[in-house]
Amino acid sequence: QTFDEAALCESLKRNVSKSGYVKPTPVQKHGIPIISAGRDLMACAQTGSGKTAAFLLPILQQLMADGAAASCFSETQEPEAIIVAPTRELINQIYLEARKFAYGTCVRPVVVYGGVSTGHQMRDLSRGCNVLCGTPGRLLDMIGRGKVGLTKVRYLVLDEADRMLDMGFEPDMRRLVGSPGMPSKENRQTLMFSATFPEDIQRLAADFLKTDYLFLA
Ligand code: AMP
Repeated sequence: QTFDEAALCESLKRNVSKSGYVKPTPVQKHGIPIISAGRDLMACAQTGSGKTAAFLLPILQQLMADGAAASCFSETQEPEAIIVAPTRELINQIYLEARKFAYGTCVRPVVVYGGVSTGHQMRDLSRGCNVLCGTPGRLLDMIGRGKVGLTKVRYLVLDEADRMLDMGFEPDMRRLVGSPGMPSKENRQTLMFSATFPEDIQRLAADFLKTDYLFLA
């Protein structure tokens, strides 16, 4: 199987092949059709499995196909996709991959993370954002400041969910999912990735995902 069979638009295919990806990894091969079909997903996948492209490609494909609202300057941005990961390194990797895939298209990814001042990130955000990548605390900060609105969220991705729990981010994750404007789980598509699937992750999946979510191990 190749990416040619994954029903990606031309610009996305071009950017994927420029990245040197020829053959989808197992999580991409099995995950992309599930996500493209609009299903919620809980996937057990390690770093290095190719999980980032597995969720980014179908999301970007859908946003491009819908001609996602051209990003433009606004003090409050309303992203269609929110991607959450526990550390600055991880979220930055996801952001860089999103930028690579979105190159030359109407989709504009932005990244926000803690440990640095907010000024630069707020300016970057205000230039337009359809795909917002962030660490939990800084995302909540931007939402609290009114820089990010959640009413247009169609995709919510929680990456490395087990590490987020280990790092004590459960309250932040719950606050994010329960923030004003965030569509209910029935009205958004939620994707969770985790290396392990212990009881606390199962509980989170039950709370955040639709009851008919698919499980990929
Ligand atoms: P991830 O598990 O998403 O962190 O990806 C691990 C690494 O594999 C990253 O450096 C990706 O650039 C690379 N990668 C992901 N998918 C593919 C693929 N289909 N072919 C070759 N490399 C890939």
